[in-house]
Amino acid sequence: MNERLLRAVDARVDDLVTLTAELIRFPTINPPGEAYRPCAEYIGARLKKHGFETEFIRAEGTPGDTDRYPRVNVVARFDGRSPGACVHFNSHIDVVEAGEGWSVDPFAGLVKDGKVYGRGACDMKGGLASSIIAAEAFKEVFPDFPGAIEISGTVDEESGGFGGVAHLAKLGYFSKPKVDHVIIPEPLNKDRICLGHRGVWWAEIETKGEIAHGSMPFLGDNAVRHMGAVLQAFEDELFPALDRKVTRMPVVPEGARRSTMNINSIHGGQTEDFRPGLPSPNVPDSCRLTIDRRFLLEENLATVKSEVTAILERLKRERKKFDYEIRDIMEVLPLMTERDAPVVKAVAQGIMAIFDREPDYVISPGTYDQKHIARIGHIYDCIAYGPGILDLAHRPDEWVGIADMVESAKVMAIGLNVLLRGTVAG
Ligand SMILES: [Zn+2]
Repeated sequence: MNERLLRAVDARVDDLVTLTAELIRFPTINPPGEAYRPCAEYIGARLKKHGFETEFIRAEGTPGDTDRYPRVNVVARFDGRSPGACVHFNSHIDVVEAGEGWSVDPFAGLVKDGKVYGRGACDMKGGLASSIIAAEAFKEVFPDFPGAIEISGTVDEESGGFGGVAHLAKLGYFSKPKVDHVIIPEPLNKDRICLGHRGVWWAEIETKGEIAHGSMPFLGDNAVRHMGAVLQAFEDELFPALDRKVTRMPVVPEGARRSTMNINSIHGGQTEDFRPGLPSPNVPDSCRLTIDRRFLLEENLATVKSEVTAILERLKRERKKFDYEIRDIMEVLPLMTERDAPVVKAVAQGIMAIFDREPDYVISPGTYDQKHIARIGHIYDCIAYGPGILDLAHRPDEWVGIADMVESAKVMAIGLNVLLRGTVAG
């Protein structure tokens, strides 16, 4: 492996820590999308100083975009001396709310005992900082490298990525020939490569009834009881069937290597805000249930949907007055980059060089921005790889380890060397 490259990363440890802490100090909480512009401008100014061309792209008209909360993304590019492939590091700059239970200020960027603390430290400002340091070290050591390096800071990943990566992908920022390989430094642990994610189908089911006085329910038709029949059928048939479907995808945690479905919410009848008064005596004429179905590479979306609609149709035949509607809310297909894809092999070589062992290959149980890069941008040479520890994401006292960031930046720098210069060592 190239000792000069590793030394160039080591020489930047203080810079890496300062950069991470400063990124945390922008309270980029989503929702509503606080401080996006100053955070994007900070990243842009930093990279411009290091010779990158920078662009700011506001996703006007996307969900949540207002003059008070503009969806500002930054894309920076550094072209090498000669044409070649482009490696793009994409990080989201938004973070979830701090929540309760912190022993430190979540937006102070506190550095203590080899860790940087704060909301977004692990998910994923530490990853963003590592990729910036890796790129700066690489281009200093190999000023004649062919190809290009891009670094983006994008918004709204935590709320679906529509004003961030999806918007940029629609504008062509994640397409060939501009971009060839994408690394997303999400917190998946420094020695693991995340190849993709399971699929998602969100839908709302509504059962219908007929309103009547609660003292004479036989005059109406109770939509909540109809929904009870739906839930009973799910318990008896659907949940056991889903639990029998096992995937070859290496999903972590292992419990997610099966099909799952969550009931996100259920609501029927009078709204909760009657409190502190009394409930009104009505037979509910509508009941709504939101389902969150996560599916596997081995399943297809049409079958996933028909498993649910078959139950609803059967209830319609068998149960008196049963009527329903079903509405799709969101669909994401499962994704898995193959292990022999160039970006996977390059980062795997970095992990082997730094940790002297094969990486673990994993799949995320939930989705992230890779879905837009594949579906809209048609770039399939994409992984998530970053220094943060997955279990710390979204939790109180979130932190990222400084040594983890340094090692991860070295893996990224070696990955750049393999993808752009075709060598681990040279
Ligand atoms: Zn994240």
